Amino acid sequence: MSNARITVLADDTVSARSALGEHGLSYFIDVGGHRTLFDTGQGLVLAENARALGVDLGAVEAIALSHGHYDHTGGLPIALAAARGPVAIHLHPDALQPKYNGTRAIGMPPAAREALAGPNVRLVESREPGVVVPGLFRTGEIPRPHPEEALAELFHLDPDGRAVDPLLDDQSLYFDTPEGVVVLLGCAHAGVIHILERVRALTDGRPLRAVLGGMHLGRANDARLRWVIERLREFRPRLLAPMHCTGPRAAAALWTAFPEACRPGGAGAVFDF
Ligand SMILES: [Zn+2]
Ligand SMILES: [Zn+2]
Repeated sequence: MSNARITVLADDTVSARSALGEHGLSYFIDVGGHRTLFDTGQGLVLAENARALGVDLGAVEAIALSHGHYDHTGGLPIALAAARGPVAIHLHPDALQPKYNGTRAIGMPPAAREALAGPNVRLVESREPGVVVPGLFRTGEIPRPHPEEALAELFHLDPDGRAVDPLLDDQSLYFDTPEGVVVLLGCAHAGVIHILERVRALTDGRPLRAVLGGMHLGRANDARLRWVIERLREFRPRLLAPMHCTGPRAAAALWTAFPEACRPGGAGAVFDF
């Protein structure tokens, strides 16, 4: 009997016969009987996949948002409508900022913002690390000391492209197991190595067991990919599941560099720890 189970509810690929795909990410996390959603995807597949995969969205006690982009927050109205009890929503304050890719709005959709004001919601806005539910933690804002992990592409806070969005809202979740720490990434806009270094500091140097999620390396050049892989080796991950925005070239490089550790993600994938 494991004490933690992660079910991928939304991803760009699928790995279960009955699951649907979308450009987005959402995990249903059961740690010690406490149910949490980490991100909600766009909302195109959340309810259908939960039903198909036998996941009870109504039991969710908390929702943590990795950042404010639409492909992680669009399903909030669906998740909150399904919840039977009060839900604590953990987010960095910058997740609420307007966000643009060129002239296209890619921030939290209006319906998701409205849902945040719902009667069953307790908003936990914080830049700091903290507890999401007992045994499950958020990193808060990630320090970014390595120029190698600078944002590979520029997003903005306005449609005219005047103010660069540094995506300080990017945060990840983690929990500990006897064999080491499990880290769940949103898009890793802060840089996957920055995130793993932060988790190592927050857990007093506990070994890394698993990294799941989006690594946003689609535009990374060869030098950056090599740098990320060499630094990742130092963490000796036992399980890697590159998903969502990792990018096929980066995912192929990771599968080549870590053939023993890599496992497919995708909607419907289940990871027991
Ligand atoms: Zn994003
Ligand atoms: Zn994303």
